[in-house]
Amino acid sequence: MSTADPQTDHDPTAPPDFDRLTALLPRYELAGPRYTSYPTAPVWSDDFGPSDFAAALARAQAPADAGFAMYIHIPFCRELCHYCACNRVITKSEVLPERYLEAIGREIEAIAGHLPTDMRLGELHLGGGTPTHLDPKQIETLMGFVDASFERATDAEFSIEVDPRVTTEDHIDTLHARGFRRISLGVQDFDPKVQQAVHRIQPPEQVAALTDYARKRDFESVNFDLIYGLPHQTVESFDATLDHVFDFEPDRVALYSYAHVTWIAKQQRGFERMDLPSGDEKLRIMLHAMRRFIDKGYVHIGMDHFAKREDSLAVAAARGELHRNFMGYMTRPPGDLVALGPSAISKVGGCYAQSLRGFDEWETAVLDHGLATFRGHTLSADDERRAWVIEEIMCGAAVDAGEYRARFGSEFKRDFASELEDTTEFVEDELLRVGEDGSLTATPTGSMLLRNLAMCFDAYLPGQNAEAGPKFSKTI
Ligand code: SF4
Repeated sequence: MSTADPQTDHDPTAPPDFDRLTALLPRYELAGPRYTSYPTAPVWSDDFGPSDFAAALARAQAPADAGFAMYIHIPFCRELCHYCACNRVITKSEVLPERYLEAIGREIEAIAGHLPTDMRLGELHLGGGTPTHLDPKQIETLMGFVDASFERATDAEFSIEVDPRVTTEDHIDTLHARGFRRISLGVQDFDPKVQQAVHRIQPPEQVAALTDYARKRDFESVNFDLIYGLPHQTVESFDATLDHVFDFEPDRVALYSYAHVTWIAKQQRGFERMDLPSGDEKLRIMLHAMRRFIDKGYVHIGMDHFAKREDSLAVAAARGELHRNFMGYMTRPPGDLVALGPSAISKVGGCYAQSLRGFDEWETAVLDHGLATFRGHTLSADDERRAWVIEEIMCGAAVDAGEYRARFGSEFKRDFASELEDTTEFVEDELLRVGEDGSLTATPTGSMLLRNLAMCFDAYLPGQNAEAGPKFSKTI
């Protein structure tokens, strides 16, 4: 990937014009995909099954030095956070994690059996649910399966999401011994009233203790996840949360918009009886937070991430070398991604493949035949082109027509003539510049509306919008 338009001195990390953004945002506040994949999951086919996934795995490729990426979904949580729309199993059972380990061991073996034998593991991310719902011994067992099946690439990067409420120093020691050096803490908000409303009580001292210990054990990168738009949040209350955040100096912060998707997460309906911030207040919280991160020297990355200027993510963004997949923004070229566990989504061999979402059905399928694929999609040539354009927009806020020509052997301006017409409103609102050859460069203010811009290049969206029922969260 390259920075799109050298003539304009485009800097994808420059701050937006906050006042202008405030005036424009209500017009751009639509429902739309987050584009962690293109095409998005709702258009994938149920006809895509385990044999299709096995064939895709056999076609997998990864640069020898970088290796392939792996995601393992650990679905268990002790209690339900009421904002949560993840695939998770709320349980205090001691049996389920043991059953999970047996099944994931089988799935890892099956995947390794289908991949080409020279594939090396370059990146591993444990996510959930709550990966540290597994105790340290169980994490050892899981990592034993991984290491028995895959050789690690040089400088392989291992990362994990943790819930500070259940993560111990023993967990950190075990993870460190197994090569994990990146840790992401679910923080969301420090205000006691907000924590009570979302059913996630987590005092700053708990986050401080875990952050300090991870740093002491040489974790190179500590990320905090925050959410704006939760019940009872105001600009003032979130400002106090940010004061705590800055005390801990996280290397990276993901500032997510609360997704009110009651058709997926029914428990969110309870928020409608609470003091949920209005659309305007939500925007003010986001803009205020952005301003504070930028004032503190963080660099704005992609849509909703911030990183210290010296962090590898900020360096990659400044060079136009940022990439994105289901695990979020990353600095390595996106080789194939193989994902395991219930609901996990792989992108491999030119296909997307998703495993069964329910724990029991996933477990039965992998114990029976190793793979639990229930839907997927084989990318067409048109999908590949659009997926590239959308990734360029989401990661670099720009599309370079010259690079498109070099990659696909045709003209961006001709292939996307009608889509470029659809961007007229962005141009008129000074959110986007379009070059002679059709190259796109979002202005710093337009960089806040990348989901909206990407939607112009989504060939499936008009059909999806014509179908009944809500499908996506708001873009802001
Ligand atoms: S810990 Fe994470 S995955 Fe589990 S319920 Fe809370 S938000 Fe959802």
